[in-house]
Amino acid sequence: MIYDNHKRPITYLRLAVTDRCNLRCFYCMPEEGIKYLPKHQLLTYEEMERVVRVLAQLGVSKVRITGGEPFVRANLMDFMRRLAVIDGLDDLSMTTNGVLTAPHVRELAELGVRSVNLSLDTLDRERFHRITRRDELPAVLQTLDALLAAGIQTKINAVVMDGQNIEDIGPLVELTRNQPVDVRFIEEMPFNGEGSHYPVLHWTHQRIVDEIRAQYPDLAKLSDPPFSTSANYQIPGHRGTVGVIAAFSRTFCGTCNRIRLTAQGTLKTCLYDNGVLDVRALLRNQATDAELTDAFLRAFAHRPVNGFEAERQRDTVTESMATIGG
Ligand code: SAM
Repeated sequence: MIYDNHKRPITYLRLAVTDRCNLRCFYCMPEEGIKYLPKHQLLTYEEMERVVRVLAQLGVSKVRITGGEPFVRANLMDFMRRLAVIDGLDDLSMTTNGVLTAPHVRELAELGVRSVNLSLDTLDRERFHRITRRDELPAVLQTLDALLAAGIQTKINAVVMDGQNIEDIGPLVELTRNQPVDVRFIEEMPFNGEGSHYPVLHWTHQRIVDEIRAQYPDLAKLSDPPFSTSANYQIPGHRGTVGVIAAFSRTFCGTCNRIRLTAQGTLKTCLYDNGVLDVRALLRNQATDAELTDAFLRAFAHRPVNGFEAERQRDTVTESMATIGG
C-alpha cells in the first residue's frame, strides 16, 4: 500500500473516460460553446488500462469510471470487461447520469460491478429538464429501476442548489423508505465550466441536515465507513440511507484516499488542484512501467493537505466537473 506525505493511503482512482456529456446541468457546464477535447487528446482505452494496471500494482484496489458521461464514449462495455479482470482491482464501480445506462445494467452486474452512483437532482420532470437542459428523466428512472432489480448497490447523488431543487430534498429522502437506495446530498462546488459564478454556498452540509431533520425529526446518525466522504444517516424503518457530502466545505480531506485521472490523462491528487502530472505525455513518450511508477510516487509524496491548500496553489477554478471526472 502506498501512503502520501500526510500518511493517507492511496487506494481509489476515479477515471474519467470522456469529457463529453449528454446532459447540460447548469451547475456543471455552460449550455453552449463547450470546447470538447479532440479525440487524439483523450487517453485511449489501452492507455487507460495500462495506467490502471500500474496503479493496481501500487495498491489502488478501487476504480470508479466517470466522465463526462461514461456511456457517451463508444465501446465502454468492452473497456469495462478488460478492467474487470485486472489483478489487484477488487472494486470496479461507475458514476453515471443514467440516460443511456439501463440496457447495460445486467452486464455491469455480471462483471461484478457492485455499486453505481446515479446522479439525480430531482424527481420532477420539469425541474429535471430545467436543471439538466434535457428532458431525460424517464430514462434515468428506468436506469434506477434496473439497478435496483439487478441488486447493484445504488447511490443517488443530488447536488443541492439554492432556489432550484430544495423542494426535492423530501421526495428524494422518501425514496429510501421502501428501496435499498442511498441518497446523498452534495454541496454545490465551483466547477461549473464558467469560473464566473463561484457559488456563495447557501446550502451547506449543516443546513442540508437541518432541512432533512425538520422533515424527519427521528433522523439518526449512522457510523461512517472508513474513507467515507458522506456523513450518513437513516430514518428508522427505512430500507435505504441518507448521506450529506460537504464537497465545498471539505470536511473529509483528512482521510482522502482518492486520486483522479482526467480524460486527457492529467493526474489530480486533489479534486481542487490544477492537475499535478501529465500522464498522457509520459505514456506517449514511451515511459516504462517503472518510470510511470516513479512519477506517481513523486506526485503522491507532494499531495496538498486539503482542498483549501490545493485551491490556494492555483489560479481561479474555471473547469467543468465533466472534465475533472466527478
Ligand atoms: N456524467 C456522470 C454523472 O452525471 O454522474 C459522471 C460525471 S458528473 C460530472 C459527476 C457528478 O458531479 C454528478 O453527480 C454531478 O452532479 C456532480 N457535479 C457536477 N458539477 C458539480 C458542481 N458544480 N458541484 C457539485 N457537484 C457537481
